Amino acid sequence: MNITLIAGARPNFVKIAPIIRAIENANSKGSNIQYRLVHTGQHYDANMSDEFFKELNIPRPDINLGCGGGTQTEQTAAIMVSFEKDLARNPANLVMVVGDVNSTMACSIVAKKMMVKVAHVEAGIRSWDLTMPEEINRMVTDVLSDYYFTTSETANNNLIRLGARKEQIFFVGNVMVDTLLFNMSRFRKPSFYDKFNIKPGNYFVLTLHRPTNVDNPDTLRAIITEIVTNVHGLPVVFPIHPRTARIFSHLNIYADNLILVDPLGYLEFNYLVQNSKAVITDSGGVTEETTMMGIPCMTLRDNTERPETCTIGTNELLGTDPKAIKPSLDRLFEGRWKKGGIPELWDGKAAERIIEALLSL
Ligand code: UDP
Repeated sequence: MNITLIAGARPNFVKIAPIIRAIENANSKGSNIQYRLVHTGQHYDANMSDEFFKELNIPRPDINLGCGGGTQTEQTAAIMVSFEKDLARNPANLVMVVGDVNSTMACSIVAKKMMVKVAHVEAGIRSWDLTMPEEINRMVTDVLSDYYFTTSETANNNLIRLGARKEQIFFVGNVMVDTLLFNMSRFRKPSFYDKFNIKPGNYFVLTLHRPTNVDNPDTLRAIITEIVTNVHGLPVVFPIHPRTARIFSHLNIYADNLILVDPLGYLEFNYLVQNSKAVITDSGGVTEETTMMGIPCMTLRDNTERPETCTIGTNELLGTDPKAIKPSLDRLFEGRWKKGGIPELWDGKAAERIIEALLSL
């Protein structure tokens, strides 16, 4: 078996790490799975890319296509052009893509047009919101995929409704959870923690990067103001995504309790989350991690492709109106946030199941 694995952006690196570990484990027990790791270069800042390879022990990519920046279309097109050449030079019998970023969709299209089978990890999840570029990436990737590795029954049902056959779908659990559980004992206190006198259970973590929240300066200002003024003076640690930082730098927001930091490495970020009072976010992956760690999570979106984080986990959708933030914070401070449970098969063994399934094909 000869697999090309695709990773391009921060959440991809978190998802690919346990898959590579599972391949290596299978090979150490006698399997013969050849793999190449292609980094598309979609994320290229050291703290959005290199740091994750180091911390999560991901091997050096066999190639970096260097396709960062540009508009959605420019980036997708650049990845397609480069990956077509790479796949022609290095034939594979399976291209495995993870998640929902532009690299996921671009490489699926290329592989399929070159008659190479496509496996999609985290397939079938849907927000049904076509204003999210990620939703378009999910839809296109799933239409083209031959094998679907899923995180939930909801995803399985979506795929069946969209025409997938049962035998193409493998309900394996969640590779992001694999990474979280595998690394939990290695979480690391960020260096600024003591400097800012942050106390466990007494601060918030904020992450924002969705265009609907961060591209309009007035929206971004309203969200941040609403948060910092309604957290009873507790610190709000805000590891700022490069996309958000570009807009934030023009806002002139100063608040004593707002602690702005660069994007953190995985081990420090999840230490921060694990010890926080609550997380406010528009990330998808973070809602899964907070569910696993039992940390209250407020999501500033109208919908989610990960409904189990709300129905089972600690997550709640607040919508995109900043006015919804205060009532939810009040409820948290009154001790009325749900406790949450763990979704089915989110047990740290998803990647193992993926490799078992591949070997059985
Ligand atoms: N993350 C991180 N450092 C940060 C912010 C996020 O390591 O400063 C991790 C987080 O733990 C999760 C992933 O990045 O594993 C989520 O990525 P992101 O929010 O960019 O993407 P999404 O999940 O929304 O697609």
